[in-house]
Amino acid sequence: MKNLTILGSTGSIGVSTLDVVAAHPDMFRVVALTAGNNLELLKSQIETFRPELVSVLTAEKAQVLSRSLTGKKPEIMHGVEGMIAAATASATTMVVAAIVGAAGLVPTTAAIMAGKDVALANKETLVTAGHLVMQMVRDKKVKLYPVDSEHCAVFQSMAGHRCQDIARVILTASGGPFLNWGQEQLQKATVSDALNHPNWSMGKKITVDSATMMNKGLEVIEARWLFDIPVQRIAVNIHPQSIIHSMVEYVDGSVMAQLGTPDMKGPIAYALSYPARVTSGVKPLDLTALSGLTFFKPDTDRFPALKLAYRAADAGESMPAVMNAANEIAVETFLEGRIGFMAIAEAIEKVMDLHAPHALASIEEVLEADRWGRRTAREVLGTGS
Ligand code: NAD
Ligand code: MG
Repeated sequence: MKNLTILGSTGSIGVSTLDVVAAHPDMFRVVALTAGNNLELLKSQIETFRPELVSVLTAEKAQVLSRSLTGKKPEIMHGVEGMIAAATASATTMVVAAIVGAAGLVPTTAAIMAGKDVALANKETLVTAGHLVMQMVRDKKVKLYPVDSEHCAVFQSMAGHRCQDIARVILTASGGPFLNWGQEQLQKATVSDALNHPNWSMGKKITVDSATMMNKGLEVIEARWLFDIPVQRIAVNIHPQSIIHSMVEYVDGSVMAQLGTPDMKGPIAYALSYPARVTSGVKPLDLTALSGLTFFKPDTDRFPALKLAYRAADAGESMPAVMNAANEIAVETFLEGRIGFMAIAEAIEKVMDLHAPHALASIEEVLEADRWGRRTAREVLGTGS
């Protein structure tokens, strides 16, 4: 029996995780859940999964939730303290990190420091603080399983092989909704255009990241830390069908790939049940029903965010955390309808130009770089600080 805490249980990954859990009540038990604003959904999750502890964003929300529950109530906490309590709950053995953005960093690292294994969806944790997080994972001897589908595919493609024999990691990218849009069209792309992803149903922030291809950039940095491979040996191939989830090329020229119907329940079930495999609810793949699998190189003129992520990875130190923070603010501002689609990458680039990278020796220093990036992005966008 695995005892789980799910950070961000009301999000897209959180809900898919609970689907997998519900299908295997003999294998998984929910100890704690955390959520942001969706109290309705959290309430129904509490009634179904009966956690011991839940946490919401504010004291007010905690009160509203408490009043809405009948019968035996879980302990209800709030804020960062509540998220940390959920991440470190004594009965928990594995934490599913599914909060979006740098907000996931503190509870995820708290889980590692408390010796919990982590199923990591929150890629921003590794983008902002990869070197510190991987050191903690080694020090605490915990397991870190990637939930991001590409990294889960790489992890599976590495099984039985030695890291030193890897020539390249090839991350696949769907190309998002704007794959075939020209520059002029991209200038006019609306929020609903950007949220219309062809293959995956996900939270809003990552869906916009997929449209700009910053998502793939974040994933390059995530892969760099997870697999300890220099970014120069991490390539991105556009693969619009999203059937091959990523590949590993070995020094002998052999390439290992993982395939499947695009559905996050696959990588989630893998991370939860490793090394066993359990049914995940993913539709079996019928290759004969596909009209073909295609691959090509990304166009970084139309999708400059990908280039910015390689630049941030090269610069290292505080630059990825600053880039990530600028991206979060720019995406938020785009979702509010206040800037155009191409202004997202433009703003990130300006913030990066203004930043002199420095070493980050602690999570507190990462958070300081994150705050600097947010403040500077707001200044660059003219939306105040
Ligand atoms: P989402 O927006 O659907 O859900 C985010 C969850 O985090 C919600 O429960 C929300 O309430 C909570 N949350 C948001 N802001 C918070 C804050 N400041 N403090 C505390 N909780 C907060 O996002 P998602 O699509 O499920 O993505 C979650 C993470 O997983 C992201 O890092 C994303 O990049 C990664 N990921 C998602 C997918 C996917 O298919 N959705 C695939 C790969 C990786
Ligand atoms: Mg991914």
